[in-house]
Amino acid sequence: MTNAAIEKLQRILKLESQKYEDQAVTRGLGSFALAFVADAQRNGLATGWAENVADRMRRYSAATEIEARKAAMTELLEFLQTAVQGEKPLPHAPVPTSELPSSRRPAAPMSSGPITRLTDAVGSPPAQRSQPAPDKQAGYPVRTITPASLVQSRLGLDASIEQINGIGPANARLFQKLGISSIRDLLFYFPARYDDYSALKTINRLEYDETVTILGRVATVFRQKTKSGLYIVRVGLEDASGMINCSWFRDERGVEALMKQLVVGREIVVSGKVGEYMGRLTFGNPTFELAEREWITGGRIVPVYRLTEGLHPMLVRRIMTRVSEYWSQKVTDYLPDTARRNAGLVTLPDALREIHFPRDARTCETARRRLAFDELFTVQMSVLRQRMLWRNEPAPAMKFDDLKLSALSGALPYTLTGAQSRAIQRISKDMQSAVCMRRLLQGDVGSGKTVVAALGMALAASNGYQSALMAPTEILAEQHFKNFEKLFALFADRQASTPIKVRLLTGSTKVAEKRAIKEELQTGAVHIVIGTHALIQEDVSFSRLGFVVVDEQHRFGVEQRKALRSKGAPGADGKPVNPHTLFMTATPIPRTLALTLYGDLDNTVLDELPPGRQPIDTHWFMPTERERAYAFVRGQVGQGRQAFVICPLVVESDKVEAKAAVEEHARLQKDVFPNLKLGLLHGRMKSREKEDVMAAFAANEINVLVSTSVVEVGIDVPNATVMMIEGANRFGLSQLHQFRGRVGRGAFASTCLLLADSAGAVSDQRLQAIVSTQDGFKLAEKDLEIRGPGEFFGTRQSGEPELKLVGIGDRDLLDVARNQAELIYAGDPNLQKPEHAALNNRITDFWASRTSEGVSAGDAS
Ligand code: ADP
Ligand code: MG
Repeated sequence: MTNAAIEKLQRILKLESQKYEDQAVTRGLGSFALAFVADAQRNGLATGWAENVADRMRRYSAATEIEARKAAMTELLEFLQTAVQGEKPLPHAPVPTSELPSSRRPAAPMSSGPITRLTDAVGSPPAQRSQPAPDKQAGYPVRTITPASLVQSRLGLDASIEQINGIGPANARLFQKLGISSIRDLLFYFPARYDDYSALKTINRLEYDETVTILGRVATVFRQKTKSGLYIVRVGLEDASGMINCSWFRDERGVEALMKQLVVGREIVVSGKVGEYMGRLTFGNPTFELAEREWITGGRIVPVYRLTEGLHPMLVRRIMTRVSEYWSQKVTDYLPDTARRNAGLVTLPDALREIHFPRDARTCETARRRLAFDELFTVQMSVLRQRMLWRNEPAPAMKFDDLKLSALSGALPYTLTGAQSRAIQRISKDMQSAVCMRRLLQGDVGSGKTVVAALGMALAASNGYQSALMAPTEILAEQHFKNFEKLFALFADRQASTPIKVRLLTGSTKVAEKRAIKEELQTGAVHIVIGTHALIQEDVSFSRLGFVVVDEQHRFGVEQRKALRSKGAPGADGKPVNPHTLFMTATPIPRTLALTLYGDLDNTVLDELPPGRQPIDTHWFMPTERERAYAFVRGQVGQGRQAFVICPLVVESDKVEAKAAVEEHARLQKDVFPNLKLGLLHGRMKSREKEDVMAAFAANEINVLVSTSVVEVGIDVPNATVMMIEGANRFGLSQLHQFRGRVGRGAFASTCLLLADSAGAVSDQRLQAIVSTQDGFKLAEKDLEIRGPGEFFGTRQSGEPELKLVGIGDRDLLDVARNQAELIYAGDPNLQKPEHAALNNRITDFWASRTSEGVSAGDAS
C-alpha cells in the first residue's frame, strides 16, 4: 500500500537513519510529528494511527543516546510497516456504554487501522474509545485503568472522595474547600481551561508579547540576591530548537522551594507572556509545572483546574483521569434519548469524560455543548413546570367590554403607541380570563409602561377590583402616585370612568394616615394603592385585590413579590385568589436571559418609543475636559434648562457615598457654579428631604441636581437636558443607560456627558457602546457579550441559575433546550413515564434548590 504521507515520512526516516542526529528535518523529527498527523489526515489515514506514529517520532527525538535512537527508529519503522502491509484495521467493536471497560489511555496510541478514517466522534465516541485490548505491541508502558485497580469496595457516585486511591484526609479537606466532597462533585468540577500540548510551541518560534505554553528542559539555574533582599532565579530553558531565559523573583523562603523544583535536566512546562530583555526574548515570572510526559508525548489537551493552595495540579489531574474515565460511565443520563438525539448531543457519561480529558478540540466542544445544554435545559424544564403550576391557580375572571378600554385610552392626552396598545389589549384579555396572569412588561426607559399599568388598574376598578402598585423607592412611588392621581382625575373628567380613589402608602406615611388607608383598603373604599415595601406589611389587607403591578420588579426579592400576590381577593372557598400580576422592568434583558430568568412568565415588550422623543447626544470626555462639560451645563442652564450631575459610584457604603456627594455638591457650588442653584440627593437623606429636593428640581427651583445613583430609575423631569456622569467607567452599562434615560423626556434636545476617571479595556468597551447606541436592548446584548452570562447574572439577583458552561454563542442551544422541554411536557406533563423518572428527580431537586434561594419573578407560591 502506498500513501503520499507515509512515503514522505519514509524518505525522511531513511535520511535520518544515516546519522541518527535528528537532523533530517529542521528542529527534529519530534517537531515534525504534528505536521505528519495533518499530512496523514489529508491523505486519508486514520488519525489514531497517525498519532501512534507521531508518538514514536517524538520518542525518537526525546532519546538522547544513539542506541536509544536506533531502537526508537526500528520501532518506528516497524510500526509504519503495519500500514504498508495493509494490515486489517482493528474492528470498531461496538461495546455498550454501560459495560465499557475503562481502557482508554490518555496518551495511548489508537490501534485502529491506518486507512480507517475516524468516524464522526460526535455520534459515537464510546465505540472508538473502546479498544478490546490494550495496545501491547506499542511496547512501552501504557496506563491501563481497570475498575478493579480503582475500587476498593463497590463505591457509588455519592461516595466520599476519600475512598479514592490517592486522596487521603488531608487532600480531602483541600477538595472540600472547592466544594468537592463526593465522587460526583469531582466529576462535575469542570476544568477552568486547557493546556493544549498538541499546540506546544518550540522556543525558536516564540514571538514577543504572545502568551504561550512551552515545554523545555532546565539547562542552567542561577540564583542571585538583589539589593532589595529578594532573590532572582534565572533559568536557561532549552528544547530541540533553542534556548530561552526565564526569571522568577522570590523571597528567602520561596527561593528554596523554587530551587528544589528547578533541577537541571528536568522538563518543565512554562506558561506566560513572552517579554524581552536586552534584545532577547525572556519569560518573566511565568507559571510553570513539572512536565508530565504522559500528557505531552501524546500531544494531548490537558485540563487545568481552579485549585486551592496545597492541592497539586498533577495529583488532581491524575485523580481526574481515573475518575472521569471510570465514574463518568456510571452516571445515569437523565436526558431522554429522544430529546438527546433531537438536540444532537452526546450522552452525559461521554460528555463528562470528554470535558476533563478531551481527545481533541472538537470532542471538547461537543462535551461542553452537552453540559451547557444541561444547564439551560434544567432551567427550562423548571420554569415551564412553574408556569404550568401557576396556570392552574384560580384567578379573578374580570368582565369588561372593549369599549371600556377604548374610552379610557381615548381620554388620555396622547395617543398610545402601537406597542402600548398591543400590551394593554393582551393584559385586558388576561384579566378577563380565569387563568392567573403573570406577565413581564419590558420596556426601555421612557417607553411608557406606567400608562399601560394605569389602564389595567382602571379596568380592574371598573369591575370592582382593587389594584396595588409596588415601587422600589419612595421617590418612585410618589411620582407614580402623582401621575396616577392626575390620570384618574382625567378619566373621570372625561367620563371614561367613575371616580377612582388612589392612595399612597410608604414607610414615611404618617401613622394616622396609614391607619386610615389600611382601613379604606380593607373596606374597599380605596381602589388603588401605590406604595413601597410598606404595602406588603402583614397588617395591610384588601377587600378585593385583583390586579398587582410590580415596578422595577428586579429590585424586589422573590418573597416580597410573593407577599403582595398573596393578598388576593378571597375566592368561593374563602382562600385568597391570586391577583393578576404585571411585572415591569426598564432593564431590557436579552432574550437568552429573559427565557432563563423569566421563562415562566408571559413576556410583552414595548419596543417603540412615544413619538417626538429627542435623541440624546452622548459624549465621552477625558477627565481633563471637565471644564468644557461644566461650560456646557452653564450654557444650558442659561437657556432655562436643568442638569443632573451624577457622582461616582462608591462601593464601600452608603455613608461614604453620601459624604462624597456632599463634598462634591459643596465644591461645585463654591468653585464651579457659584451663580447657579444646586440641589443634592443621596441615599442617606430622609425621604422627606429627598422628596423636597425632587419637587424643587421638578419645579425648576434647582438648576443642577447633584446626585448619587439614587436618581437612577424612573425620575421624570422633562425640562432637564443634561446628564453629566462622573466616574462613568465605574457604572455598569444598564445603569448608564438608565441615567441617560433621565433626560430627553421633554421637547428639548438633550445631552449625556460621560466622564471617565480612568480607562480600562472593559469600561472603555462599555462607554463606547453607550455612545454608539441608545437602544436599550442592543446595550443589554452588548453588556451580555462583555460580561458573559455568568457575571451578567451575578450582578442581578441572588439565586439565579449558574450558567458555568453557557457561552455567548449558545443562543441556538437555548432555543433547542426550550423546544425539547416543551416537547417533553407536551407528551408527559407530570413526567410520569418511566423514561422520565431520572429527569423528574433532577427537576425536582433543581427546583427545590432554586426556590429556596429565590429566582424568578413569577415563582409559584
Ligand atoms: P417608563 O416606561 O420609563 O416608565 P413612563 O411611563 O414614565 O416611561 O413614560 C415616560 C413619559 O412618556 C411620561 O411622561 C408619559 O406621560 C409619556 N408617555 C407615555 N406614553 C406616551 C405616548 N403614547 N405618547 C406620548 N407620551 C407618552
Ligand atoms: Mg417607569
